[in-house]
Amino acid sequence: MTGRILIVDALATNRIVLKVTLSAAFYRVIQAGSGHDAIGMARRARPDIVIAGDLPDMPLAEFATALQPATGTPAPPLVALLPDDHGGRRIGALRAGAVDVVTKPYDENVLLARLRSIMRHRQIDSDFGMTADTADALGFAEEPAAFQKRQSVAVLAATRPQAEALRTRLAAGTAHDIIALGLDEPGTAKALRRRPDAIILHVGPRNTRPGLSLLAELQAAPSTRRARVLALLDPGVMHLAAPILDMGAHDAVPDATDDRELALRLAFQLSQKSRGDALRGKLEDGLQAAVIDPLTGLYNRRYALSYVKRMLASAQDAQGTARTCAVLVADLDHFKSVNDTYGHAAGDAVLAQVSARMRAALPFDAMIARIGGEEFLIAVPDTSLRDVRNLADHLRRVVRDTSVPLAGGGGPVRVTVSIGASLATPGPAGPKTDVGKLVAEADKALYGSKTGGRDTVTVCRRPAA
Ligand code: GH3
Ligand code: MG
Ligand code: MG
Repeated sequence: MTGRILIVDALATNRIVLKVTLSAAFYRVIQAGSGHDAIGMARRARPDIVIAGDLPDMPLAEFATALQPATGTPAPPLVALLPDDHGGRRIGALRAGAVDVVTKPYDENVLLARLRSIMRHRQIDSDFGMTADTADALGFAEEPAAFQKRQSVAVLAATRPQAEALRTRLAAGTAHDIIALGLDEPGTAKALRRRPDAIILHVGPRNTRPGLSLLAELQAAPSTRRARVLALLDPGVMHLAAPILDMGAHDAVPDATDDRELALRLAFQLSQKSRGDALRGKLEDGLQAAVIDPLTGLYNRRYALSYVKRMLASAQDAQGTARTCAVLVADLDHFKSVNDTYGHAAGDAVLAQVSARMRAALPFDAMIARIGGEEFLIAVPDTSLRDVRNLADHLRRVVRDTSVPLAGGGGPVRVTVSIGASLATPGPAGPKTDVGKLVAEADKALYGSKTGGRDTVTVCRRPAA
């Protein structure tokens, strides 16, 4: 395991003992003797995890706050290493901002499994390519709490009564929706398809095997893959803590854990889930924005050209009979005069309306994009000369028959469109058709429609290649 861990502890012997364990697991370890030194080190060295033992100069909460970088990326996860199992201290550390608490004497294997788990799930940010700059640009510098909403939790135990008992324990400390499910019940799989945000899985001697195989299934199933899993372990199966964390559980604690601690751990997992969801949503929005024209909602030029390339490639790869593809280029006629007469905003409204009508008039497998101001590209993957003619003429009529009423009672505005089309029949053994050439041919045909009087269709008549 590679990764950089910062240990902060006033006692050199404590640091050395921990360093030996971590170095043996191939972590790079840096050390500080005080909170103040550690904060400076964290800024410079950007550790993946900070483990705080005895802080001589500040309370843990103050240290956790100071670890937070001024902008951008979240603070490195903080693990509190406590001298004993005092419940209040554990809760205090979690409240102060620690993502995990380990008390002495600790099981080395479990500690290492916890660190692996933190390291793995910390990947969320790097998986999304979140550098400090992109996090800022996307507005992700906020605290995870900003994303909090009502979430759903599924509690799973060997039997429903056991799950219900756990639910009751948790209900006091959380405002989220909790459902209790028994592993032995037929409806459990269906309930899990409702995409819980977090799953509390109780593992005891009676359900060790089904519990572990369920954990593996939860990681794989589309509806639970992104759920945060907290394993609650019966004393008889505590030895499974490390393997369960390594199997992908986000946390694993004894089922005797204090209810308040459990609530805090659940709250942390839920906030991480929200953060992941929000990051994913932003990323999807960003990807969408990269290929969609905001005015019309149609694809943009960049997407259109790559689509045509893929369309030609798949027609070329096709086995058996060759398929004919077509590209149409459509340009609104005298559109400048629409702007000149009604204004640019009215021109925009006409563009949006005409786009919507054209899209609605196309067969489901055709793609339409706005590739210039009042110019559109339509790609049709499996067609014929006759169908292309008919389709182009249909589009022409749809546009001509679209009169656009204007806001404020102006208009209606009528526009016409000129269309040029070119076809390609690449076939499995045929020569490769060049995207640029195909579009240029459609452009040339469009020019023919313009010079031929506009509001008309021209199809390029080159022989099938
Ligand atoms: P033609 O029949 O030869 O195509 O004439 P045209 O006026 O449509 O063509 P020209 O290329 O001379 O002008 C295109 C006009 O389209 C120029 C600009 O005013 C308008 N236009 C381009 N993009 C937009 C847009 O996003 N919104 C609005 N409102 N108008 C646009
Ligand atoms: Mg035009
Ligand atoms: Mg034009």
